[in-house]
Amino acid sequence: MSSQKSEKKQTQISVIGSGIAGITTAFHLGQKGYKVNLIDPTVNLEINNLNPKNGTQASLGVLMGNIYKRSQGRAFLLRNKSMKLWKDWLTQINYSESDFMFEKPLVKLANSEKEYQSMIELSNNKKIYGIELLNKNSLDFWNAIFETKLIGGLISHEDGRLNPIKLIKSLMQSLDQIKINKIAKNVIRISKNNNLSDKSWNIDLENNQSISQDYIVICSALNTQKLLKPLDHEIFLEPILGQVIELELKKEVSNWKEWPAILNYQSINFIHHHPNHMLIGATIERGTKANIIYKQKMINMNNTAPKWMTNARVLHEWSGIRARPTNEPAPLLKQLEPGLLINTGHYRNGVLLAPACAEWIGLKIEGK
Ligand SMILES: Cc1cc2nc3c(=O)[nH]c(=O)nc-3n(C[C@H](O)[C@H](O)[C@H](O)COP(=O)(O)OP(=O)(O)OC[C@H]3O[C@@H](n4cnc5c(N)ncnc54)[C@H](O)[C@@H]3O)c2cc1C
Repeated sequence: MSSQKSEKKQTQISVIGSGIAGITTAFHLGQKGYKVNLIDPTVNLEINNLNPKNGTQASLGVLMGNIYKRSQGRAFLLRNKSMKLWKDWLTQINYSESDFMFEKPLVKLANSEKEYQSMIELSNNKKIYGIELLNKNSLDFWNAIFETKLIGGLISHEDGRLNPIKLIKSLMQSLDQIKINKIAKNVIRISKNNNLSDKSWNIDLENNQSISQDYIVICSALNTQKLLKPLDHEIFLEPILGQVIELELKKEVSNWKEWPAILNYQSINFIHHHPNHMLIGATIERGTKANIIYKQKMINMNNTAPKWMTNARVLHEWSGIRARPTNEPAPLLKQLEPGLLINTGHYRNGVLLAPACAEWIGLKIEGK
């Protein structure tokens, strides 16, 4: 057992990219006893959602792990595993942010009869995951909020939200505690080590610095394609933009006690996080530049927005890029060669799936 431990201490692993995929991979490998570098030019910069440095800082941190129609297959297994692991991991992460926690539940409202029918099916199949149907007689609160007559909805008691900024800050502190080496540099190139060195891989950093490693795990979202091209590994990722708007409501609405951690309606997430503040966010467009038309569509809810929304003031807004695999399902978890792995292309669910993906990398490195 102790020889296994010292073997791990000798194994050097570099994780490239310090979004949620890279941070959680470094955390998991560090906890297992490996010697880990986390490399990203932004790794020591301020963690901030108003001026996000990566997709993770822009995200809303919604965990829709249980409210998912399938009950088998890779995507289901990853969600299922992650929901279990997050509960466990949250007991291990350093909570310097005192009010940081997993906020629950999640409510989803139907926007059409078809959507309601699939909710009925889902609630029948997923009772054991804490999902209940909301029929039209239980929607007085939401009818009043959206000034309409809703058909129905779902409540998922075990889904919810991890505040991404607090989560990243806490994870970063945990990385310091387990002595992960943070390197604030851009990776320029990775290559196979042809010297007689016992380390298989070389990483060239900016400023002509270079390091040799046993394993490289690439978690650099869209940039992963560029790093892999010289090694003749082609992967295809496209940028999809997510937008978030923070609204300041005219009236304080402290009586909105029934508001869950997350409300999802018309494919928009609503997070009421202060008596008169509301975060709204959606995945709406291809590309890398936010378009005002899509933003207006989100605020107007396709001309069905209630008065409290149309009268609200836009306090902050930001957007972020999600890397979506073009030819295969998200996320991309692969061992491309001995010692070269990728954990990227998380598209919509990077925060949700982070622990299960980190665990997958750990198992591969252990040869399982
Ligand atoms: C607005 C918005 C809302 C979202 N909401 C949710 C949500 O509610 N729930 C959810 O689960 N997911 C959500 N997501 C998706 C989630 O944020 C992403 O899936 C996730 O952040 C992807 O993480 P990542 O670590 O792969 O990439 P990123 O967070 O983008 O990190 C990639 C990192 O790689 C670094 N990098 C790139 N190139 C190099 C290089 N050459 N050398 C070193 N470092 C490099 C970059 O600096 C960057 O820090 C949302 C995304 C957005 C934009």
